[in-house]
Amino acid sequence: MFYASYRSIAVTMLMLLTVVIRGQNPRPVPSVPADYQAWWTAGHLSRIDPSKVRHRDLVLYLEQLKTAGVRVEEVGRSLAGREIYQMEFGRGPLKVFLWSQMHGDEPTATSALVDLFHYWQSHRDDPRVAEMARQLTVRAVPMLNPDGAELFQRRNLQSIDINRDARRLVTPEGRLLKRLRDEWQPEIGFNLHNQNIRTAVGDSGRQAIMSLLAVAHDEARSDNPGRVRAKKVCSTLYRVLSGSIPGQIGRYDDTFNPRAFGDLISQWGTPVVLIETGGWFGRPEMDLVRLNFVALAWTLQELAQGGVDRADPAVYDSIPYNQSGGMVPLIIRGATVHNRFRDGRFEVPSYSADIGVNIEGPRATIQDLGDLGGFAALDEFDARGLHVTVARGTLRTGGEANLLFYKSARAKTIDWSVPDLETRFPPDATFRQGRWTGRESLQKADPVRQ
Ligand SMILES: [Zn+2]
Repeated sequence: MFYASYRSIAVTMLMLLTVVIRGQNPRPVPSVPADYQAWWTAGHLSRIDPSKVRHRDLVLYLEQLKTAGVRVEEVGRSLAGREIYQMEFGRGPLKVFLWSQMHGDEPTATSALVDLFHYWQSHRDDPRVAEMARQLTVRAVPMLNPDGAELFQRRNLQSIDINRDARRLVTPEGRLLKRLRDEWQPEIGFNLHNQNIRTAVGDSGRQAIMSLLAVAHDEARSDNPGRVRAKKVCSTLYRVLSGSIPGQIGRYDDTFNPRAFGDLISQWGTPVVLIETGGWFGRPEMDLVRLNFVALAWTLQELAQGGVDRADPAVYDSIPYNQSGGMVPLIIRGATVHNRFRDGRFEVPSYSADIGVNIEGPRATIQDLGDLGGFAALDEFDARGLHVTVARGTLRTGGEANLLFYKSARAKTIDWSVPDLETRFPPDATFRQGRWTGRESLQKADPVRQ
């Protein structure tokens, strides 16, 4: 990074010298992704966590962009009448089209697009941004599904998945997307989504923080010039992302889907790149906005300066496929389990098991029970020497993961069969609705831990 900044300073000075000597306009200054990262950290416009951004918040962001001079226009309405907007930057011949949040609960890229247009507008005199504006015209629709975003749900108010409506066009949001594409005929499209936090990169046991797809335009998944361009864009994205999240970038399955927008838009003549932002365990949401911003800013700069044309599509072809559901959100290892199953006078005796927990928002459920050696987890808890049970009912797969933990020294004094266990025998730690209480003290204090 130091070398790169040193190099960019050196290049800048060299160019200034050239200008002084020749008295000409400077050529664009090459930048490095770290420059974009630094700018975003200091100057990003988006201030609200993406999952909390609603249509009214987006409208406020867009008002600020309009005031700054960005071309923003209403291009349509959602089923409930919420305005859908398009932003535009640049006057160049190469037409680039991006859209975000066609799934209402997949919000990261909406904030990243706002920051991107803010960046370009406020740096329009910077030679590299000016050069980009000469080469590209960029249009972006942030939050294509504002009704879904309002409820933070995937589908629109007809309960239809807009991304499976490309053929029938029953949704007004889907019809709008098709019209914007058909009227303008862009040369490249970006379909921006979020993926499940449980997605893994191949069998690496590592979470896929970003996944890429050069969308197929036919059943045979053949390479026409458009798909090769999409692959080169993906190779460029992969290169810039590898600087921040090496080994945590996956490739999506490219089976052609005749109902999906990415696939049909590619077939209609605009090659599409799908970007799926994942979870990033232990990191705030805004880190994912920054990652999207840097990846898109850098890649569009490369598109304008010819770097994408020179990229090797084989880089994309070598990215490991991701594995959806490859990560378990939480594994509690080696606990002594009291599952509290009773049938008349029979009560299941305690046994040793690993517990796999699925966490979706505030809801946590038991995903698996038994030997989970070899399963990769986003978070692990070593519960050897600890006793665990559920607050109510029976500890079983599919059930609520409201877990009570007891140190082994107390285990013999506890009557596991009482219905009001938690009141009668206050636990040393709990895991409830995805949140821990007392986890740290438990791990430090237990003398039986091996
Ligand atoms: Zn999606």
